[in-house]
Amino acid sequence: MTPSTDQLPSNSDNVIQAADEFAQRHLVPNAAQWGRGLFDRKALFEPAGDAGLLGLQVPLAWGGMALPFTDTARVLHKLAQIDFSAAMALVNSHNVAAQLAKASPHALAPLYAGNLMRGLTVACTALTEPGAGSDLGQIQTTAIRQGDGWLLNGEKTWVINAAHADAVVVYAQTQTGSGVKGIAAFWVLADSPGFERVAVTTHTALSSMGIGGFRLRNVYCDASHLVYAPGEAFVDIMAAINRARTYVAAMCCGMVFRALHDVRVYGHKRAAFGQPLEQFQGWRWQVAQAATALQAAELMVREACDRIDRGLDVQSAAAQAKLYATSVAQTQLGILLHAMGAEGFLDHYAFLRHLTAAHAASLTDGSTAMLLERVSHDLRFKPDAG
Ligand SMILES: Cc1cc2nc3c(=O)[nH]c(=O)nc-3n(C[C@H](O)[C@H](O)[C@H](O)COP(=O)(O)OP(=O)(O)OC[C@H]3O[C@@H](n4cnc5c(N)ncnc54)[C@H](O)[C@@H]3O)c2cc1C
Repeated sequence: MTPSTDQLPSNSDNVIQAADEFAQRHLVPNAAQWGRGLFDRKALFEPAGDAGLLGLQVPLAWGGMALPFTDTARVLHKLAQIDFSAAMALVNSHNVAAQLAKASPHALAPLYAGNLMRGLTVACTALTEPGAGSDLGQIQTTAIRQGDGWLLNGEKTWVINAAHADAVVVYAQTQTGSGVKGIAAFWVLADSPGFERVAVTTHTALSSMGIGGFRLRNVYCDASHLVYAPGEAFVDIMAAINRARTYVAAMCCGMVFRALHDVRVYGHKRAAFGQPLEQFQGWRWQVAQAATALQAAELMVREACDRIDRGLDVQSAAAQAKLYATSVAQTQLGILLHAMGAEGFLDHYAFLRHLTAAHAASLTDGSTAMLLERVSHDLRFKPDAG
């Protein structure tokens, strides 16, 4: 039931090294061709499982690594340097393994956590609907009591891994009009009667994210497939979303880190007007600006990671880290691409893929507007607070 831990790295540095090796062996040769429509789920998830990367935050009792969050963010930073989309696909399936271990240790985790960590089973988390994105309280997918179980109806879209997932954690409204309080979470197998995938054709830069949607028509969900009851589901998703905001911020830093590296290497060897590009002050100032912005973003990510590991409130820190890091990636990846000249458009560089990913990152796990609302809320002047 639980995977062998024989081959899993035993400490943080080993995990980071395993992530690096996985990225070099499985992401570097594939990332560009996945964008040409050749995405292969087996080539991503199973080697990631073998490398231990699908058990980062899963408790030891389930064969996971129970890593500090800081190390999880470092792993994702490494993977995103090569392919942000693939890293998002992996972490989303991984999150479901960790969630089942916590929420359903007697029913669902014994059945699925092991294969999720091996990459043999792929899962995803479905909140967004054609009519409701930021406004989660407005979701229209319903879960109605049917005997001991539930009957699910509705449609989800823009879900990472949904194009090929074996199972989905579906968030559905159990009591119309009750907003987020009535939302519960259900484990739905993709081969259930009434489950129908709906293709979402994204830009090729997002291919390895496996974005998709699905319809649920009278999908029966056994009582044991309830992951979180009404009331609990929203509380859990809010805690999970702060971690997600933080690792998305770390991954944006990873993309900029990679671009900066490529630009520095290229600026050293490429000559124009009789000298290397790096000798031109105008050119190297752009690189210095990018490096400074990256350093600030990395520090904000570190602060949010540290707060998570110490069990402190992280809502504002996570929101600010993601706001800043996505903005740095959106801005600096374009500037660094320009600093490469035409060379930056070659397929073996990630500039364009990552520029698209940076814009996608500003929508996942809370759009920029939602994060600004979060930060503004915490900034409200409270006369009695001194
Ligand atoms: C690459 C990618 C992966 C994703 N993966 C998943 C996934 O795995 N599971 C899942 O459930 N969903 C996923 N999503 C969906 C994501 O959560 C939504 O895109 C996000 O919640 C925003 O919803 P929306 O796209 O419908 O935009 P909308 O909510 O329609 O908003 C459109 C624009 O208006 C702004 N806006 C909205 N409300 C306000 C306001 N009150 N004030 C000011 N501006 C506002 C938003 O910031 C945005 O810029 C993914 C999206 C992307 C792009």
